Amino acid sequence: MEITNNLENLGVFKDFSDGTLKTVFDAGGKQIIEVALLMNKDTMDVVCVPTHHFCNLGCKMCHLTNKGLNKQMKAISTKNFIEALIKSVTKQVNDSNIRRTDKKNLLISFMGVGEPLLNLKLIEEVHNNEQYLKNVLGYKEIGYAISTMMPTDVSKLIGLVNRLNIPLKLHFSLHTPIDQDRKNLIPSTKVSVEEALIGLVNFRSIVQDNSKIMEKYVYFHRTNDPIEIHYTLMENVNDSENTLKIMCELLKKYRVPIKFIRFNPLNNLHISLKEDLWVSTIKNNVEGLRVKTYSPPGREIGSSCGEFTKHYYHEEIETPEQLKEFKEWKKKHQIS
Ligand code: SF4
Repeated sequence: MEITNNLENLGVFKDFSDGTLKTVFDAGGKQIIEVALLMNKDTMDVVCVPTHHFCNLGCKMCHLTNKGLNKQMKAISTKNFIEALIKSVTKQVNDSNIRRTDKKNLLISFMGVGEPLLNLKLIEEVHNNEQYLKNVLGYKEIGYAISTMMPTDVSKLIGLVNRLNIPLKLHFSLHTPIDQDRKNLIPSTKVSVEEALIGLVNFRSIVQDNSKIMEKYVYFHRTNDPIEIHYTLMENVNDSENTLKIMCELLKKYRVPIKFIRFNPLNNLHISLKEDLWVSTIKNNVEGLRVKTYSPPGREIGSSCGEFTKHYYHEEIETPEQLKEFKEWKKKHQIS
């Protein structure tokens, strides 16, 4: 494989509070690829990458989703993805690509725009090009993570990961344990909450039985548990006492670690102030379960999909005020 030169670089943006870099590319005709390079790990680079150029799956808490824009999701091709990845972790010095850091390993985290389960081909082909990426970029090991809201079940993912021995951690965007509420919040999900949790537990047991995967796991993930629930607490949406009670029962039954991701408010959705209550109640009720809270890095440059860089996806429908806000943001954060 050769590094292609298909992409226009629209800018590199920096969060000066924590060093996160976001590089935005156009693959032609406003087909955006946005890659964030996180600086929050000592021994590995973490890149947060998309699987699609746009996403219209309509999750209510997503900064990218916009019903006013009639644009289809388009899967990112492997060659454009690899070009974007290489150009995001390197900078051009005298016609050569020099890596921005000297960290030993790389974690490719499919948690950006799009839905990884709807572009498994990309994950498979990136993994097939792993040796090429190691040669070009000098990483010793490459690991993988995905975040999915489950527009389909995880059986195909399980088959892929097990067949190719991919050290991949599966993060499930649950956001409420009540089926009807989840359907309202995440309309494109096609599985019930319990079906999703059964799929997660199945993924865990197959991955933990695969010694080739588990021996690579230690480089990338703190525990040997390859599954995790993501939950963003929003006021009066998914933070009630009854919801917490149901959540505790499900966690007792399936024992999946849970991480609370702090919400960046959007439209009429607000951050819940009950995070401490949820964490302590779960810890007290579900003995020994891993419960964590997390503020995603890169807040100033958009830790949620499309946040701040929304301009590149929504240019056609943005208001003069939004354009002004984008220009001010760009002036403050663009470094090249
Ligand atoms: S949260 Fe992810 S899956 Fe949902 S609309 Fe946004 S990009 Fe798409």
